[in-house]
Amino acid sequence: MIVVKFGGSSLSTAGRILGCIGIVGASASRDPVVVVSALGSTTDMLIEASRSALAGEPGIGAIEKYHAGLSDDLGIDRRTIGPLLDKLDAILQGVSLVRELTPRTLDHVMSFGERMAARMMAAAMEGEGLPAIAVDSYEVGMVTDSRHGGASPLPGTEASLREGMNGIPHGLVPVVTGFLGRDEHGSITTLGRSWSDFTASILGAAMGADEVQIWKDVSGVMTCDPSLDRRALGLPVLSFDEASELAYYGAEVL
Ligand code: ASP
Ligand code: MG
Repeated sequence: MIVVKFGGSSLSTAGRILGCIGIVGASASRDPVVVVSALGSTTDMLIEASRSALAGEPGIGAIEKYHAGLSDDLGIDRRTIGPLLDKLDAILQGVSLVRELTPRTLDHVMSFGERMAARMMAAAMEGEGLPAIAVDSYEVGMVTDSRHGGASPLPGTEASLREGMNGIPHGLVPVVTGFLGRDEHGSITTLGRSWSDFTASILGAAMGADEVQIWKDVSGVMTCDPSLDRRALGLPVLSFDEASELAYYGAEVL
């Protein structure tokens, strides 16, 4: 069994999503479990929508439009995420009414990004002939402390994840939400920005995966982040020491 993780920028357009599905399909015989981040910059849009709601202007317009466009491009039913969008809309109305945005509420709002992504990815996989099922990580045992915005998994999490994932029907590729957990009071938590990779790693450890693959939108490690400087070049060779130093100094690709 392998874990295959895709981040937001790898899932930002229908073309890229189909490319990711191709990667999963090519590994079909290795029993893949897919982990996804929110599509494109949905997490940023959700934070922005929360701030607008707090200022008295609730709305999900941009988020709805982006996901509807992707659904159409992928040929999947817009209603796949309809119930989630309705809930998100209601929560933002609530934020606007009470003019309060606690870290717990912000985590709940941010969770919609990965929840929509998992559902749309599973639907798109179905469309490509890969039977899949969307799985909310917090429903299958991702238990964390209550530090909203930067929660840490609790010691029993590996065991509870193993048990939870075992309950998923065979023959379907699970598409699991990265980034999200649930605390012991039942509130949704997030692990910290860009931390879906961590979900993939924990899941891989819990399930005794042969491999955890973190797919990126670049073809290899580069001299710097190409979205920061377009002159970035691919590195043909990288020693373990260099890789470790890069990671130490915060190179996100590692
Ligand atoms: N969607 C979350 C973020 O943008 C988590 C992740 O991408 O790993 O931070
Ligand atoms: Mg991201």
